[in-house]
Amino acid sequence: MRCRTCGKKAAINMRHHRLSLCSEHFLEWLPAQTNRFIQKHVMFDKTDRVLIAVSGGKDSLALWDILWRLGYQTEGLYIDLGIDESITYSSRSQEFAQSFADERGLKLHIASLNSEYHETLPEMAMRTKRGRDNPCSLCGLVKRHILNNTAVNGGFDTLVTAHNLDDEAAILLANTLEWSLEHLSRGQPVLPSRPGFKRKVKPFARTCEFESAAYSFLRGIKWMPDECPFSKDSKQLYYKAYLNEWEASMPGTKLRFYNTYLKALESGAFPDGQEEVQVLEAQRCPNCGQPTITGGLCAFCRLIVP
Ligand code: SF4
Ligand code: ZN
Ligand code: ZN
Repeated sequence: MRCRTCGKKAAINMRHHRLSLCSEHFLEWLPAQTNRFIQKHVMFDKTDRVLIAVSGGKDSLALWDILWRLGYQTEGLYIDLGIDESITYSSRSQEFAQSFADERGLKLHIASLNSEYHETLPEMAMRTKRGRDNPCSLCGLVKRHILNNTAVNGGFDTLVTAHNLDDEAAILLANTLEWSLEHLSRGQPVLPSRPGFKRKVKPFARTCEFESAAYSFLRGIKWMPDECPFSKDSKQLYYKAYLNEWEASMPGTKLRFYNTYLKALESGAFPDGQEEVQVLEAQRCPNCGQPTITGGLCAFCRLIVP
């Protein structure tokens, strides 16, 4: 395989794009692709203060590196979930995130679940039915709340997460199998700000995991190599495995699935959630002040308030 740009030996072959590139041109190509996606969906510009959620893994560090190189104003947020029992997952992940930020002179905010709410994620998962049934669902709720709170309190304009194409296609498959119209109506790469919620964007939604791993490797980024111990029970892994099989025999499956979904969203195939926005404008959680659709305490405060 030869690089399409310079003809040298290719370092990466992206069958879904029918494109092979050498390391030098791949390291130029991925930031350019990411920037085009940011601009196409008007995610943010260079005047915005952007908060990026950083886990210490390859996706979030690759994305942060790219946004930094492109000249966007970024600060990172690492959420210490206290997952340090069977393996020291959280503390080691934090070290990778902190070293990355220090090497580039970037600011990394740290939010510790245990320091702020006196409980680690594993403890919370043991104590609650939702956590026992599905720790990742509980974790998602906790992370969304802390991310939004940090963005609101820190005066950021936009919140960035490093969800990649593999994540988005797996979530889409799960929501389609359940015909969850509520979730299908909110799967776009830009969720506009709503009262009490910052705008949330996913610049890597069209970037597959293989590309972000290749970028991190070729760029010399050191990332947390171990998976979270809870991930082995995550349903998303099953969906990812099926999608990977389909992708291997039909390259481009994930990208087509996601792109056709975006077209369906744009054509109004799913409800637009306006009713929810109106309810959200009217109701605030009495404990944390975040909007809540149910009235009374929000889902996060129901977890932490005894
Ligand atoms: Fe949270 Fe699940 Fe991810 Fe672990 S695998 S960090 S519990 S969402
Ligand atoms: Zn080249
Ligand atoms: Zn609340």
